[in-house]
Amino acid sequence: MKMAKDIAKDKYGLLYSTELLLSIIMLVFIIGIMANLSDGMNERMLSEEEISSLENMAIATSDYLLNNPGNPENWEEDDRLDNGIVSPNIIPGLAIRKKNIDNGEFYDESYDDEMIMTNAISYHKLLKIKSNYYKLIGGNLFNGSFKSSMAVYPINENMAPIVMGDDMNDDDNVNDINIAVVNRTVQCDFHSSFVVYDFNDLELFGDDYKREVSCNHDSDSNLEGHANDGRSIWLCKNFRVYKKSLEDYDYFLLSDESIRMSNSYFILESINRPHDNRQRLDEEAIDLNPFFSEDLENSSNEIYSIHFNIDRNHINDFKTVLVAVPKNMTKDLIDDDEMKYDYFKSQEVNYVLKIAYK
Ligand SMILES: [Zn+2]
Repeated sequence: MKMAKDIAKDKYGLLYSTELLLSIIMLVFIIGIMANLSDGMNERMLSEEEISSLENMAIATSDYLLNNPGNPENWEEDDRLDNGIVSPNIIPGLAIRKKNIDNGEFYDESYDDEMIMTNAISYHKLLKIKSNYYKLIGGNLFNGSFKSSMAVYPINENMAPIVMGDDMNDDDNVNDINIAVVNRTVQCDFHSSFVVYDFNDLELFGDDYKREVSCNHDSDSNLEGHANDGRSIWLCKNFRVYKKSLEDYDYFLLSDESIRMSNSYFILESINRPHDNRQRLDEEAIDLNPFFSEDLENSSNEIYSIHFNIDRNHINDFKTVLVAVPKNMTKDLIDDDEMKYDYFKSQEVNYVLKIAYK
């Protein structure tokens, strides 16, 4: 089977539509049986068999949630969820359909069923579950038969855990043995789908980095060339911005806090109006919309060029992404302290699901 090979190769597995269907059927079947068993199990010790059923249930539920995007697949885009209105037809899932972003234009790399990544969860789906947990998980998934909680603990200590559902952490609870726990290490995409450019390919090449994209400064005799020298390297990229996209997206240049140590500079320009004025890169978040709005006053779109000059001695401190955040999310990201470089990278997290009979 192709799947095992792809897991080894890509770290993400690929899940096929027949397997998706099978896992949904299995889950519905198991929940059906368990719901009948669960009556009157409160307040008494569970038999070994009941505990084992509960553990199987927790495993099946985790497998389902981590390997399925849910049904409908883009269920998290239902606007009514923001008002706590949950369609009974939604079966939530957390898996990600692989997406790619090029030059600020968002597109699906494939509409193929086979491009669902396993062991990689969508942060935006997770947030929608958090804000509607009891209806989506307690109701739609568990038919009201179980208590449960879900949590995601980023390995990266700069990021906050996300915890939701029933309180199942009571250490004094004598029924603790009656809680089934599943713990899995998975990748979480956080806000990485909003990244237009990741300028961090330097890390892969280190001192041997060779710029492969041509730079407009190299071919213009009025400008300083951007060939690398012994002291610093240049990283130059072009991207197009449409005036209309400024109505929907906020563009930011986000850097790790190490950027202040990196002795980096940047030039941002329309390729129709190039210049040599370097600006020191020493802020973690730079709002680029004011620049684009002014520059696009008289045109519908422009190709922009961003040039980074990075000190060779501080290459590892240079961690920067260009992001386009949907305007309706900008305020939440700032309020939640998530308008940060780390939240725009895919990160390893511990996923924990706990369930118990009601
Ligand atoms: Zn350049």
